Amino acid sequence: MPKIVVCFPQGRHKALTMSYDDGTLSDKRLVELFNRTGIKGAFHINSGLFGTENRLTEEEASTLYEGHEVSAHTLTHPTIARSPREQIVYEIMEDRKRLEQMAGYTVRGMSYPNGSFNQEIKEMLPYLGIEYARVVQTTGGFGMPDDWHEWKATCHHNKQLMEHAKTFVELHKSQYLYLMYVWGHSYEFDHDNNWELIEQFCEYVGGQDNIWFATNLQIVDYMNAYKQLKFSAACDFVYNSTALSIWLNVDGNSVEVPSGSQVKLV
Ligand SMILES: [Zn+2]
Repeated sequence: MPKIVVCFPQGRHKALTMSYDDGTLSDKRLVELFNRTGIKGAFHINSGLFGTENRLTEEEASTLYEGHEVSAHTLTHPTIARSPREQIVYEIMEDRKRLEQMAGYTVRGMSYPNGSFNQEIKEMLPYLGIEYARVVQTTGGFGMPDDWHEWKATCHHNKQLMEHAKTFVELHKSQYLYLMYVWGHSYEFDHDNNWELIEQFCEYVGGQDNIWFATNLQIVDYMNAYKQLKFSAACDFVYNSTALSIWLNVDGNSVEVPSGSQVKLV
């Protein structure tokens, strides 16, 4: 039987993803930086607060985030662990509806507003069409999450970002999948007067062609598609019924299993 492990697209074993919350005006500068350096992110937005205080209008948001992921953060940013279930459902479903109208695709991810969640909320999310949810706790590491509804980032950008980036870029053991995940709020760069931190980071990691730059949801979709592959009992062939190409490493060789195809593995 061949030795088979999943890889990221194009046979890579490292991915970087970013998550920025609240949809504030400072996202303009951050998205421009991401676009210039090829980095992808998820932007978790309260659609009920468009155009208030320091937040983007819906019109601004509708074009700004093209090429990135627009994702849920509840309609009005309540501390949902203190809210009635009816309100939680409304806050998430209405946010999804408005963001989907704007973005034109299904909104299936979220980050917890104020980092607030509990076990019951986690268990509700799949019924509300939410496939992942990011928390504010971090790991300091580069592993894949084992609970998509309690997805911990590697670090907040103010916690040793460049040290983590250097460690990540130098990782080379291809027997592992490595994910670096950075979260924050773009307005913090204004408050802390440290835009040079994220600029230095994006210029350092951007353009490294052994890293897959992906939105949060692209990573979830890819790993879910991998799980749907139909391997023969002998693992000598595999059928990919999904809409995504999946890359495997088979006895040390990179193999693409295209969408809708059956591929021989030995
Ligand atoms: Zn927030």
